[in-house]
Amino acid sequence: VVKKAGGSRYKIFDESCQVDHARRLYIESELRHALEKHQFKLLYQPQLDVHSNRIVGVEALIRWIHPEMGMVSPAEFIPIAEQMELIHSIGYWVAEEAIRQASEWCREGLGLRVGINLSGRQFMDGDLASKLGHMIRLSGLPPKLLDLEITESVAMDNPDQALFLLSELKQLGVTLAIDDFGTGYSSLEYLQKFCVDFIKIDRAFIKNLVHNPADQGIVKAVLGIAESLNMRVIAEGVETAEELSLLTAFGCDEIQGFFISRPVPAAEIPGVLMHYHSK
Ligand code: C2E
Ligand code: MG
Ligand code: MG
Ligand code: MG
Repeated sequence: VVKKAGGSRYKIFDESCQVDHARRLYIESELRHALEKHQFKLLYQPQLDVHSNRIVGVEALIRWIHPEMGMVSPAEFIPIAEQMELIHSIGYWVAEEAIRQASEWCREGLGLRVGINLSGRQFMDGDLASKLGHMIRLSGLPPKLLDLEITESVAMDNPDQALFLLSELKQLGVTLAIDDFGTGYSSLEYLQKFCVDFIKIDRAFIKNLVHNPADQGIVKAVLGIAESLNMRVIAEGVETAEELSLLTAFGCDEIQGFFISRPVPAAEIPGVLMHYHSK
């Protein structure tokens, strides 16, 4: 497709590029009404503690079910929501819903830790700690059952600010996790200062773990660092029994991935727990 761009200059547009652009515009306009139309839902993915062989936590993962587009991946719409500043309202909806679900499970005696993902802009929002604190108090949830995940790249982008914000969140009594660890540029000096409870090793290091000694070396090194810093390690994206046994042998604390369970609706969580805890 060639378009006249004024004067004698021509601009070349890729066909697929135009399709992408149209989809992007469509997503932008549909995203504005998605909350009020109740198009979001949360799925929960179990996290297995390999020491006790029990499911001790779940990560809340947002889904957008659109009447025309079907399921839109958060990897696609979260960055757009960030740019449009819609992330704040979406993020608070996620927090509210996850906290409500966590307190319901808590009352039922499940005592599951529930993790939520915070995007960069949410994390930098000056009201975040006080708003989350308010939600936690209203719900009656023991704060340590709420886990807040911030990616390594967001934390290391402005580590001094992150240090301040993380300690503010930590004062709520929640647990904190560094997500997608190993994919950003980490400063070990700052990692040591961050008051986080968990390091989540990115799936990039897990997917070839069994056949790639270099990945095994990296995972062992991360486990060593985490141990020295008194942090627990969660491996993301574990898909096979071989990966699970290798990670267990290396001393990894928790496992999350399709091998344990895909992300499922809240109603299916008690069944997954029963299945695991009766083994
Ligand atoms: P993440 O936080 O690193 O979440 C892990 C992603 O890996 C999830 O993708 C999950 O479904 C997927 N996954 C889990 N186990 C496996 C496995 O064994 N194999 C493979 N191939 N994938 C696995 P999902 O749900 O599509 O989310 C993608 C990303 O979107 C998340 O990465 C997170 O950064 C973001 N996200 C999801 N929900 C939220 C949310 O509520 N708020 C914000 N701000 N971001 C979110
Ligand atoms: Mg996450
Ligand atoms: Mg991750
Ligand atoms: Mg990831």
